[in-house]
This record gives sequence, structure tokens and C-alpha cells, in this order.
Amino acid sequence: MHRFFVGNELSLQLGATNLLPVKLAHQVRDVLHLALDEQLILLDNSGEEVLCAVTRSNRTGVEIQVVERRAGKSESPVRLILCQGLLKSARFEWILEKGTELGVATFAPILCRRSMAGLEDAGPAKIQRWQRIIQEATEQCGRSRLPELLPIRPLMHALNDLPTGSLALMSWEEEHSQTLHNVLQSSLPNANNNRDTKSASLTVVLFIGPEGGLMPEEVALAKRHGVHVVTLGTRILRAETAALATIANIMYELEARVA
Ligand code: SAH
Repeated sequence: MHRFFVGNELSLQLGATNLLPVKLAHQVRDVLHLALDEQLILLDNSGEEVLCAVTRSNRTGVEIQVVERRAGKSESPVRLILCQGLLKSARFEWILEKGTELGVATFAPILCRRSMAGLEDAGPAKIQRWQRIIQEATEQCGRSRLPELLPIRPLMHALNDLPTGSLALMSWEEEHSQTLHNVLQSSLPNANNNRDTKSASLTVVLFIGPEGGLMPEEVALAKRHGVHVVTLGTRILRAETAALATIANIMYELEARVA
């Protein structure tokens, strides 16, 4: 079933009929060739899925009617905030797409000392493009809430802003003893204490450096904010590999335990 985010521009209560916005109408009519009575899912970021049927489709527009509102897939009980040192745009975009599939709740692009120059002032067009990548990945993988994309901030701001009770991790290529596995295992007995009581989730903040790596001063600063610094093994991974592999491992180790 095809899924599309429509924001809150349509009124999607049960039984309501709506004309689809022009771009989406084009997609439904001319690309997917959905016929009368065929169904699609619209998403309004409420966490519910809105099942709709095509009730009219012609040159002037495509009309749909809401057939059912139902609970969407729930978000991961591990609320993962990825603080990613800014990278070349194409690699960062890859992280947005794959990170969305792997369940990242929040993407927080971080300005590090060795971040590529030029991206810190990513303009509205670039931000819009990043939002679109996140939206397409969200539709594709069946999530019903969009991961959040925070504005680009210096590392210091992200460290000052760590949510209380969260487990914060930083992967550093110069760390040789403390492993991700050990930190996650030793944090598990506390996982329940760390839970956000309102949402019953565990918040994990993950810092990954930029292509040029993290400076010792940045790591020292993070440690002073209570961040656990970990190695991912003896091989140096590219930043996007480090991010995605670590996200997958965190979900693997914690998801079933927190759920
Ligand atoms: N340019 C650096 C490597 C940077 S890799 C160098 O040549 O040494 C980019 C980021 O990926 C790092 O800042 C770190 O966060 C993460 N990373 C890559 N390999 C890692 C490893 N083996 N252990 C921990 N973190 C790693």
C-alpha cells in the first residue's frame, strides 16, 4: 500500500473527503495509476495511519475519502538522538535516509572543529532537501512519525542540551579500551531508572565525529558532560559507516530489553 505524508493541510477525520494537493494528485493519478476505490495511506504525523480510498480522479483533481484511522507502527522504545559531526552533503544525506530506516528519532547535525567547511550555513534549500529525504525514507519504511531534524549547532550546545536521564555515547577512533557493548551492557541495569516516565522510552544520545575525526579537546569536553567514550573496533570506519553500524548495534542491544 502506498504511503504519503501530507502534514496537516487536509482534514482527515473518518468519512471526510479531500482533494489531494496537486503534486500528490499527479503522483496518484499519473504515476501510480490508482483507480477509483483503490486505497492509499495518508500520514499526518499524528502517529496514526489514515486509510483512504480514491473517490474521484480526473484532470481537475483527485479526491479521496477517509475510510479508517488506525494506530500506526509505534516508534522504537529507544529514543535515539544522533549527533552527527557535519560531513559532505551526500554522505550526510545517506545517514538521514538509512538512519530513518534504522529508527533514529532525532537528527542533530553538529559543527565540530574538523567538520567540512561550508555546510554550517546550509541554506533553506538544503534543509528542505534533507527534510524531503527523511520524509521519503519514513514513508518507505512504514513509520508514521517523521524523525525530527534539528538546526545545525556547535558541539558545545548539544552537550549543554543533553536530556536528563539520557545515556550519552561518543565513538572515538582514539579510544582503545571501552567498547560500545560494555557501555550498553553496564547501562542496562539502569535502563529502567533512565526511562522517561512520560513516554516509557530510553533516550540514547550518540555522537559521531566528522570525516576528519574528533579532536582530543572535544572528547575531553564530552567526558566532562558525562558522555561515555567508546571504540568501535580496530578498523577506522568512515563516519557514515560508524553512525549506521552503531545505531544498528544500539537498537539490537537495547530495543528488546527496553520494550
Ligand atoms: N579521520 C579520522 C577518522 C575519522 S572517522 C582518522 O583518520 O583517524 C569518523 C568518525 O567515525 C570518528 O570521529 C568516530 O566518531 C567514528 N569512528 C570511526 N572509526 C571508529 C572506531 N574504530 N572507533 C570509534 N569510532 C570510530
